[in-house]
Amino acid sequence: MNCKRCHHISDAHIPSQESTSLVKFGKCLVKTCFCKQFVEPIEAIDDELI
Ligand SMILES: [Zn+2]
Ligand SMILES: [Zn+2]
Repeated sequence: MNCKRCHHISDAHIPSQESTSLVKFGKCLVKTCFCKQFVEPIEAIDDELI
């Protein structure tokens, strides 16, 4: 599963134990990446075409 925002894999993001159920990972660890929160690409599935 890749981040919708930066397209890096979930393993590249810091695991988050915060209460927000939708957010499982924190910021991205890739040096050249400024992504601050993992965004699950679930909502990207066909919904944008509707
Ligand atoms: Zn990233
Ligand atoms: Zn990301």
